[in-house]
Amino acid sequence: MSTITRFAPSPTGYLHVGHAYSASLAFEQAMKAGGRFLLRLEDIDQTRCRPEFEAAIYEDLAWIGLKWEEPVRKQSEHFEDYQALLEKLHDRELIYPCFCTRKEIAAEIARSPSAPHGPDGPVYPGTCKHLSALEIDQNFSEDKPYALRLNMERALDAVSQDLLRFEEVGKGIIQCDPARFGDVVLARKETPTSYHLAVTFDDALQGVNLVVRGQDLFEATYLHCLLQHLLSLPTPRYLHHGLVSDLKGRRLAKRDKSATIRDIREQGYSPEEVRKLIGFQEKT
Ligand code: GLU
Repeated sequence: MSTITRFAPSPTGYLHVGHAYSASLAFEQAMKAGGRFLLRLEDIDQTRCRPEFEAAIYEDLAWIGLKWEEPVRKQSEHFEDYQALLEKLHDRELIYPCFCTRKEIAAEIARSPSAPHGPDGPVYPGTCKHLSALEIDQNFSEDKPYALRLNMERALDAVSQDLLRFEEVGKGIIQCDPARFGDVVLARKETPTSYHLAVTFDDALQGVNLVVRGQDLFEATYLHCLLQHLLSLPTPRYLHHGLVSDLKGRRLAKRDKSATIRDIREQGYSPEEVRKLIGFQEKT
């Protein structure tokens, strides 16, 4: 089976050197296997995405020498796909609506000092898990904002724990611990899918069989693996890479303007120099 990798940025800002590294590594993995490299725009948060950042993504990636297949999948054009997944999960009673405000959740957590902390922040205390159908209808009829949360307990009951594993390139088989996320948000009234749901579905839909991304998302893979089993989707191989330093050896932050590909370009670096500095040697 030929290797299919992807780079999946969100057009919420300019790409930085860390993105260049991630995209180049995914590209290189595909090319050395004679495979395919895809680009996908994760633009579900329409309040933060901007067309100029999308244009800059194409320009910056082309500048560092990457080529990807067209058309580029844009998640915002496929909200009905994620809606269909949510309906499936709803039919199996694996998700529930939560009407708590962020403030209410914070107050509830403050009342229980031992509240666990998950990879995405404090674990939801489950306040809305046991609402009656009547209470739910009442909240919907009042047009309250809501989130759709995964019922983690039921989700874990629905899959065999032995199957919750994935192959990390160079490390071997990793056993997943998705319970750490608690009842994670899979969609919100105003944003009809979460990153976790959309990324899991899209990787499967696009046939991605090697996911290359930063180490900061290592634990997210536990959850993606659970979603794959709940939705009968295949589990790809993963390669979580270390987070790279910028060209001066400092750790990169998305807000560190000096580290965007654009700025580096304006400072007069050539694409070859940038590739070399982030660890990709030119082929001779
Ligand atoms: N849109 C995500 C990001 O920019 C992609 C993460 C992933 O590769 O799964 O962080």
